[in-house]
Amino acid sequence: MPITATPIPNLSDNYVWHLREESTGTVAIIDPAEAAPTARAIEALGGRLDMILLTHHHADHIGGVDELRARYGCPVIGYGDDAARLPKLDRAVREGDVVAFGAASARVIFVPGHTLGHIAYFIPEGPLLACGDTLFSLGCGRLFEGTPEQMFESLGKFSGLPDDTRVCCTHEYTESNLRYAEHVDSLTKTGGDNPALKIFGARVRALRAAGSPSVPSLLGDERGANPFLRAGNAAAFATLRQGKDNFR
Ligand code: ZN
Ligand code: FE
Repeated sequence: MPITATPIPNLSDNYVWHLREESTGTVAIIDPAEAAPTARAIEALGGRLDMILLTHHHADHIGGVDELRARYGCPVIGYGDDAARLPKLDRAVREGDVVAFGAASARVIFVPGHTLGHIAYFIPEGPLLACGDTLFSLGCGRLFEGTPEQMFESLGKFSGLPDDTRVCCTHEYTESNLRYAEHVDSLTKTGGDNPALKIFGARVRALRAAGSPSVPSLLGDERGANPFLRAGNAAAFATLRQGKDNFR
């Protein structure tokens, strides 16, 4: 695969993604929460940084931006209509814009819901989706600013992407999401027998028991097991999201 994706642990459960387009060596960092651990990983992976891509304005996605930009002199790219809440942007992008990434390209998808200025980046050459806090493995982001309808529509924008798309989300929430997905599955008529979720869950528990990240997952596997991608309409999605907010 021409794009190598490495998750860099930041804070308690964030992943900052280090993406390298192998034919040119071009490196992009997604959503740097902290400068120090991110820079250490960049150095260990070859010491190159060509661009910083941002998905949304939350502090755990932008905290390391200014220090990394100063150190590597690289441009920072983010959603133009949310520029007031983001670090200074060198390039403002919107839905449908394409960011050159070495020999590959990152397509901007506007996905409001978690915040009203959230974007994702799809790299068809990966294929790879950097989705920030919109889609998580077996879950989705909380609705801090948007409505369930907006988030349902945003997740729907991923429906045309290939099954082998690597889902590079920004938090290690998968085991907690798995418990909720199993709960939701147990409430269905047939009762807890979604084979796709069973396979997915066993893989996640094995990875976490070994101390490994559970991500990236594959979009096709998410489609089979992630309850939020399986919701048939916005009302069903809203009920699921509310259930997760209250699930212990
Ligand atoms: Zn967030
Ligand atoms: Fe976050």
